[in-house]
Amino acid sequence: MSDSVDGDDHGSEDAVLLRRAGIRPTRQRLAVLRTIRTGGRRHLTPESFHQELADAGLRLSLATVYNTLNHFAGHGLLRRVGFCDRTYFCTHAAPHHHFYDEATGRLEDIDGPQPGVTLVPAPPEGMEVVGVEIIVRLRRTDPSGAE
Ligand SMILES: [Zn+2]
Repeated sequence: MSDSVDGDDHGSEDAVLLRRAGIRPTRQRLAVLRTIRTGGRRHLTPESFHQELADAGLRLSLATVYNTLNHFAGHGLLRRVGFCDRTYFCTHAAPHHHFYDEATGRLEDIDGPQPGVTLVPAPPEGMEVVGVEIIVRLRRTDPSGAE
């Protein structure tokens, strides 16, 4: 990931976005960011995004995809949402909570007014609360509904 960017990409909107986030724009990172932005608002898993990149003609190892998503999340370009043993990367930067469909494993943004937590416990000594994530778990009510 040490290749530098030359030519047209240098001043692109994506390059500006990366630089503003404190990430050096490389050709690979620009390609990853472009794929993220092209797909719109959604929730990526390293596996699903690895496939998405492959479909777009970008052959990166799963480890590289995972590292890049984590890198972007660490710089605020994505939101990491961990749930059970899964990690999702949300492309929607504004603060929001999530619905989780237990049958499909699908994570979705809650739009509009956000649920609130009225009692946040005092953090352990030497720690501070940096956020509270609400995941509303769902299942179908119609017993004849599709599985
Ligand atoms: Zn989200």
